[in-house]
Amino acid sequence: YYAKQNRLNIHCFSSVMEAVAQRRMQLEDSLRLAAGSGQLSLHYQSQHSLAEGTITGMESLMRWHHPELGNISPGEFIPLAEETGLIRSITAWAITEASRQALVWEEAGIRPERISINISAAELMQQNLASEILTLIRGSGAKPEWIEIEITETAAMNQPETGIGIMRELVEGGVSIAIDDFGTGYSSLAYLKQLPADHLKIDIAFIRNLPDDAEDAVIVRTIIAMAHALGMTVVAEGVETQAQLDFLRQEGCDGIQGYLLGKPLPADETSTMLANSNLAV
Ligand code: C2E
Ligand code: MG
Ligand code: MG
Ligand code: MG
Repeated sequence: YYAKQNRLNIHCFSSVMEAVAQRRMQLEDSLRLAAGSGQLSLHYQSQHSLAEGTITGMESLMRWHHPELGNISPGEFIPLAEETGLIRSITAWAITEASRQALVWEEAGIRPERISINISAAELMQQNLASEILTLIRGSGAKPEWIEIEITETAAMNQPETGIGIMRELVEGGVSIAIDDFGTGYSSLAYLKQLPADHLKIDIAFIRNLPDDAEDAVIVRTIIAMAHALGMTVVAEGVETQAQLDFLRQEGCDGIQGYLLGKPLPADETSTMLANSNLAV
């Protein structure tokens, strides 16, 4: 019986593995062509200042609509792009597209202070990354001062020396830096002190159970105090409730981003939102 059961399990297991491998191969093949065939797009999610209530920024978030498989989440295709080396061309596409959009908003008089672009860990190993990014931004007719690059705390920690070098070069070129998903990595205060970042984004994991979770409340309070002491402003990610907003405002958090104030939207809907809002100057 056991032998039979085992064979059955192995059979099930291997067919699941086969399906996973097959989807992976299919996605990998289509991802190669996705950027060039209009399947990729950027959605934008607003960031709001807690003091003024105005929109200060828009984070670009990539979307992939596969012709047969439908929408594939960045949680699935970004890691795949990293593993296959496709991330480089996909990021180049995102930088060009976000910069082009920034110029459109500038010309319409509705450009928010900064447009953020996410850079993944795999790319932070590339020595010439900063000059590539700056060239793409300028080539699209945008100003580096309009753009912010988001680097996760974990990515920055993976390559401390290279990472700091790239960030410094970007800042010298006019681009600002945000440390993304902060609190999930293990950066030391000594390391944080060296980062030329302007903004620190508190990971959604610490925001989710506010204000009731006493430990998360202390962690968030401490991150805000630390960031301010190091000369950075703080944005809380994933704010979904008024109670979370009230807590963050009371604690002196500078900005918030989350479904409460705006979900990621396609560019045209974002333009409408910007046209109807008071922009921070
Ligand atoms: P991230 O950069 O930390 O982006 C924030 C994620 O939280 C986004 O998920 C956003 O839709 C989601 N979010 C925003 N507000 C809320 C909220 O109130 N509640 C909840 N539950 N979620 C919220 P998304 O768009 O699925 O992206 C996931 C991750 O994929 C991003 O995390 C980022 O690491 C990566 N990603 C997205 N676009 C790009 C890109 O263009 N390039 C690279 N390299 N990575 C990207
Ligand atoms: Mg981000
Ligand atoms: Mg994040
Ligand atoms: Mg994240």
